[in-house]
Amino acid sequence: MKQLSSYLAGAWRTGDGKPTQLVNPATDAVLASVHAVGGLGEALAWARSEGGSHLRAQSFRDRAQTLGALAKLLHGAREELIGIAVANGGNTRGDAKFDIDGAIAVLATYATIGAELPVAPQLAEGEPEPLHKGSKLRAQHVLTPRLGAAIHINAFNFPAWGMVGKFAVAHLAGMPVLSKPATSTAMLAARIAELMLESKLLPAGAFQLLLGPAGDLLDHVGPQDVIAFTGSADTGAKIRGHARVIATNAHVNLEADSLNAAIIGPDVEPGSELFDLVVRDCVTELTQKAGQKCTATRRILVPQAQLEALRDALLDRLSAIAAKTGDPADDAVRMGPLSSRAQLADARSGIAKLASAARVVHGNPERTGFVGVADGVGSFLEPVLLEATAAAARDAAAPFHAHEVFGPVATLLPYDGSVAQAAEIVAAGQGSLVGTLYSDDRQLTAAAIAAIAPWLGRMVLATEKIAGASLAPGCVFPVANHGGPGRAGAGGELGGKAGLAPYLQRTTLQGGAAELARLLGHE
Ligand code: NAP
Repeated sequence: MKQLSSYLAGAWRTGDGKPTQLVNPATDAVLASVHAVGGLGEALAWARSEGGSHLRAQSFRDRAQTLGALAKLLHGAREELIGIAVANGGNTRGDAKFDIDGAIAVLATYATIGAELPVAPQLAEGEPEPLHKGSKLRAQHVLTPRLGAAIHINAFNFPAWGMVGKFAVAHLAGMPVLSKPATSTAMLAARIAELMLESKLLPAGAFQLLLGPAGDLLDHVGPQDVIAFTGSADTGAKIRGHARVIATNAHVNLEADSLNAAIIGPDVEPGSELFDLVVRDCVTELTQKAGQKCTATRRILVPQAQLEALRDALLDRLSAIAAKTGDPADDAVRMGPLSSRAQLADARSGIAKLASAARVVHGNPERTGFVGVADGVGSFLEPVLLEATAAAARDAAAPFHAHEVFGPVATLLPYDGSVAQAAEIVAAGQGSLVGTLYSDDRQLTAAAIAAIAPWLGRMVLATEKIAGASLAPGCVFPVANHGGPGRAGAGGELGGKAGLAPYLQRTTLQGGAAELARLLGHE
């Protein structure tokens, strides 16, 4: 069996700690093992000294060039990577491309963003401002790469995009990265890391890979380090509350659970192109990556008048996908398994929670017998759709407002079609990564932005006009902010140049106008 290795302090290390087996979640076949490794304090020290100094000797443009070269490298290995994602991630080919092409797109986008940045070692923010009226003294904000290590801890669902996306931004900013993928799906991240490191495109210390548990990693955090975490709210809370993280005030960015909502406006007529888009998007969000997307739609707000038409349309599409759920190695399969037995157990117990407040209108969580696998094999869950009553939908304590079931699961929530009630229901989720409004009513849309956008990191406005060109709301683009308030972690990643912010220290340079202009090359 293949043993995966971490790359720490300049060496590949297999470790001798407790092993974890990595499996194919469709067939239960064991594919590889990962052992816990130590020496994490030394690895962080190596990142700060070796990696940091090499990176800061390069300009933003140099580092951007590296990102461009890495995008090409991964593109060249695309087929191999898709094969790994299908085997260890339970991804269909389409799901695998979503993750891997997403990773390549972030590299390419940040290569382009970086090519436009100045050659100077820092970024100037805005213009120098006189300290007071008539003063020769100026305040100029500058952004310099932090001197620590960027510690990236990722979730299991996007092993490629999660790791590479975070890396691209930190690298462009000039910080060395130590990346820890989630263990259950680490094969894809491990191969990508191997490709990146063997390419010799990166200076020593710029990138390290930690496989297996985080061990005592956080005990070694320093005040110039940045922690970017994606995963469950529970683990996020542990990281934010870690004594050393609190003591050092290392910068922490959290991307956590999210109960994303789709809001169907009262003007969306069944049979219209916009209504068809609602159906298409809801089905994509429920079933892409077997619903294991932080941006997947979990709550579908639908005016009572359109409820029946929407339910019927969704049942139709979901039963077709349920019939083609199985081993993603089979090309006819449209939805693969969840990533592990533990995730399946978690999703089933989550559905039971939701079912205490809503009725199941599609799917049997206990179903066995899927395409291409023997009965009882694999971590499969067919799409499950629930429906609440209008009264239950408004109960802020209802489980569908509090519990994220990380699988192909969503709940229909009838409402009265008003912005006020939609906002009340969205707010019950206490902050989400994304929400989508389907409406052609401009007044309603303007009111919804004011009432709902503060609860969201991204708001998708879907109209009849763009229905043909629209992309499902769960798709994150490198130029768009990814992160959401409250329950979603109150973090922010990507979003173009703004995404560099966590890795750069904002400092006011306060001094004489002429001196500042000379130093910053404004003369
Ligand atoms: P998880 O169990 O919280 O694990 C996330 C990562 O944290 C893994 O790498 C895990 O390592 C690591 N970890 C666990 N305990 C740790 C500790 N005490 N200290 C440091 N690291 C620790 O989450 P998951 O099950 O992988 O992912 C599913 C969750 O992620 C869902 O709730 C989903 O909503 C969320 N998610 C959010 C976003 C977003 O952008 N907001 C994106 C994707 C997923 P091991 O795997 O080795 O345990």
